[in-house]
Amino acid sequence: MAVAADLRPDQTHGLVCAHHHLYSALARGMPAPPRTPGSFVDILELVWWRLDRALDLDTVEWSAKLGALEALERGTTCIIDHHESPWAIEGSLEVIAAGCAEIGVRVNTCFGVTDRHPDGTDPARFNPARFDPDGPMTEGARRGLAENRRHLESGASGMVGVHAAFTCTDETLTAATELAAEFDVGVHVHVAEGEADRGAAARLAPLADDKWLIIHGVHLSDDHGLAGTLIHNPRSNMNNAVGYARPARFANATGLGTDGIGADMLDEFRVAYVRMREDDVTAGPDAAWDMLEVNRDLFPESRNDVVTWNYDDMDPWRLAFTTGVSPRHITVDGETVMEDGRLTRVDATEIRAKAAEAALRLFKKLENLS
Ligand SMILES: [Zn+2]
Repeated sequence: MAVAADLRPDQTHGLVCAHHHLYSALARGMPAPPRTPGSFVDILELVWWRLDRALDLDTVEWSAKLGALEALERGTTCIIDHHESPWAIEGSLEVIAAGCAEIGVRVNTCFGVTDRHPDGTDPARFNPARFDPDGPMTEGARRGLAENRRHLESGASGMVGVHAAFTCTDETLTAATELAAEFDVGVHVHVAEGEADRGAAARLAPLADDKWLIIHGVHLSDDHGLAGTLIHNPRSNMNNAVGYARPARFANATGLGTDGIGADMLDEFRVAYVRMREDDVTAGPDAAWDMLEVNRDLFPESRNDVVTWNYDDMDPWRLAFTTGVSPRHITVDGETVMEDGRLTRVDATEIRAKAAEAALRLFKKLENLS
């Protein structure tokens, strides 16, 4: 980025987060789960699958605005978002797109389709071991696909989202693939994040193409046979104790995401580098920096955005060991959205206050969930 001819040494193009969950922005401070999760599937079931069921369009909106605000404050002008709100499907993607537009952040979003809610309303516990991939598509998945279609038909930037193969029937995976092909976009799907999804590659390889985003890949074999761009999320993988993806072993182009833990891409780059270094002492920061370049190819509009930083030399070898580097000035498509470190389009204090009120409403709903 720093070497681009049209930029000064203290500038980059807008950063891109290649895998985000804006819906998790209000989760910080949420009530503790009913028991301490002891595995990755436990974390999904007791934390994230409770949160997504508590979301309504109001809290989706404030999550998106707060997440977009925090992204922009870290120089991230483009977000590739993966959304799930199974009790508030219809209209959710439009709400996210509008929220990001208000803040001044570009977003490519999708709805993560899943068959883990059998009749579209049943909050029964999901058991990966008893899930039948040969079963029929559920009503919940059908509505998720329809939301993806509605979003893409509107002309908004998006993909077709799939939660993960281990919660989807083959019928759903095929329908998602066909919908993506119809709109000439890719499928955005979690793959082999935990042990429970080890079988994903065999089911997805016949479907995937170069437009797909393959998220995580921790438990993929080196020669997994999946086309698409792999998105590495090192901090999230550590937080969920799922293991290290060792992305250097894959032939796929590899980008970098946060998996919902903010959108500070310089910070994620540092984590990606240091995790790589822990595994291989000969690794340098360039490989992690290249992931940010792959992100840029996924969101080429980021090249129309310019971030001026409070650091003179935006070079990967310096940035890997320099914390706290912050944007001072940002333009998106030529429009100034940050001046002297302050956002210009919106009142950040007001957005934070309203998001905090929405978070309290969300926590109340969480407390009342079964
Ligand atoms: Zn994710």
